[in-house]
Amino acid sequence: MSKTKLGKNNILLIEDEESIRSFISTTLKNQNYKITTASDGSSGLHLAASLCPDIILLDLGLPDMDGMEVIKKIREWTAVPIIVISARSNEHEKARALDSGADDYITKPFSTVELLARIRTSLRHSSQMHDLTSTSQKPYHHGNLTINFDDHVVMLDGTNIHLTQIEYKLLTLLAKSSGKVLTYTFIMEKIWGPYTDNNNQILRVNMANIRRKIEKNPATPEHVFTEIGIGYRMAEGD
Ligand code: CA
Repeated sequence: MSKTKLGKNNILLIEDEESIRSFISTTLKNQNYKITTASDGSSGLHLAASLCPDIILLDLGLPDMDGMEVIKKIREWTAVPIIVISARSNEHEKARALDSGADDYITKPFSTVELLARIRTSLRHSSQMHDLTSTSQKPYHHGNLTINFDDHVVMLDGTNIHLTQIEYKLLTLLAKSSGKVLTYTFIMEKIWGPYTDNNNQILRVNMANIRRKIEKNPATPEHVFTEIGIGYRMAEGD
């Protein structure tokens, strides 16, 4: 947490709905973030280029262009974290936004706590991206689970647990992006390569096996959560 300096982060909000714009602006100003707003896609893109914000909050339903287009245009030149604000309960749309390069999403109506948590997670990930100089990676800890990436060791309540190679790859992929949702498509490509079909069955089977090994009660997981219709999100490390 110490790496993300609160109060120094510039946030760009692209949202056409006045009430949501002012709610988010007020919330973030109170947390000492510096916020700039745009009410349509083209002025949002302009501001993104001129301000170089630390994070972009983007509504998908904009009056002048599709939010998906905004994501693609921004991704042509910067890896700045983009959190999609979506009124749509359409899981397919959220997954498409993530696969187009958004980092996370938040569904309206959302709470202040949820919004701030998503922002912190995205800022933490982007600061880790800038810190690729060190070859060893900090272990992941959450509750009774520890993953030591350097030694390839997964421990539960202090005891080594055995994972297959695929299970280990899958769990570490999620742990390295902990707090962020990873889509089925993204995970399939990372683990099984770009030419796998769209059948998620192999992924679900492996996830069920992992849960049997690391969760006290696989039906109510504490470590890896299912985002129905979208993918998986691993609990943010302690
Ligand atoms: Ca809108």
